[in-house]
Amino acid sequence: MQIPFVDLQAQYQALKTELDAAVLRVMGQCNFILGKEVADFEQAFAEYVGAPYAVGVASGLDALKLALEALGIGSGDEVIVPAHTFIASALAVSAVGARPVLVDVDEASFNLDPALIEAAITPRTKAIMPVHLYGQPADLSPLLDIAQRHGLRVVEDASQAHGARYQGRRVGGFGDAGCFSFYPGKNLGAYGDAGGLVTNDAGLAERVRYLRNYGQEVKYKHVVKGYNLRLDTMQAAILSVKLRHLDDWNARRAAHAAAYTHALEGVGDLRLPRVVTGDHVFHLYVIRTKHRDALQAHLTERGVATVIHYPVPIHLQAAYADLGYRRGSFPVTERLADEILSLPIYAELTAEQQAHVINAVKSFFA
Ligand SMILES: *Cc1c(COP(=O)(O)O)cnc(C)c1O
Repeated sequence: MQIPFVDLQAQYQALKTELDAAVLRVMGQCNFILGKEVADFEQAFAEYVGAPYAVGVASGLDALKLALEALGIGSGDEVIVPAHTFIASALAVSAVGARPVLVDVDEASFNLDPALIEAAITPRTKAIMPVHLYGQPADLSPLLDIAQRHGLRVVEDASQAHGARYQGRRVGGFGDAGCFSFYPGKNLGAYGDAGGLVTNDAGLAERVRYLRNYGQEVKYKHVVKGYNLRLDTMQAAILSVKLRHLDDWNARRAAHAAAYTHALEGVGDLRLPRVVTGDHVFHLYVIRTKHRDALQAHLTERGVATVIHYPVPIHLQAAYADLGYRRGSFPVTERLADEILSLPIYAELTAEQQAHVINAVKSFFA
């Protein structure tokens, strides 16, 4: 039995009729750039998150980058970013010419540790970027407090947490902007690159709309120097179909996570993910063990695909040697990089497939 890490085919087959019709409709209309489907998806997604404005852009990285730029963050500024995240969170800060200042994460939640944030604030700090990693909301309440006291902006990286709730409200709507990736493997994924941001700030939404479309207010009237970073109409049509299924998929992911936790509790030295800050949408189910590499090899032999998110922390990447961090700078992040392993999780994972994964993990520790 082969268990893939994600199974995009299973989802396509389940929604084939709806998705094919949406794509064919866009092709029939030939309204490929900023067609009606883009505005329709933006409205549906804003309503879903519970924020008044959503703007579709070309990718998650672009959503983060445009949010920072529209907030006026740039050269000479610093933005606080968790040390344990996908590198795109930091790259967005670098892309606007600012400096990512890394802060270690909390071991229980894998998210930015609010107790460590204030020590990282300097006169140049302009914003904090919490990441809702693996689908679990970052602990926003103390973080928003700190931001308010120091006059900092908050840009949420919700690229792994579509639909996750913190204190009853969906993430993305708490900060000045909430940024999402619709990369195909995300909880809400397009059929190519896509992204978007939500905000409560009409002015910010307008600036991002200009920036994504050559800085145009209307055709050939350029009010700022912009880019071509629009959400594709075809992708928007696909995302609108899929958005209707997101809550159901997230519920199934949570059920699979609960089944993993129930079956693997107390097995070997495993440390299982804890739901500590809100409704976790389990983009990833990440376990920890001191025997990670051997366990991964054992699972590969038994047909179970696993991934390490992420094996080399940002501060130890060649691309970020210029930040001047070294091994030992972020002990929790470094420990996690050595011990974490993501098991297959997706809505369509069957009970039989999951039993195979569980048995394979158990047989390693037997
Ligand atoms: C996927 C992801 C991004 C980047 O999204 P893209 O659409 O691939 O540009 C940013 N941050 C996090 C945490 C992600 O998981």
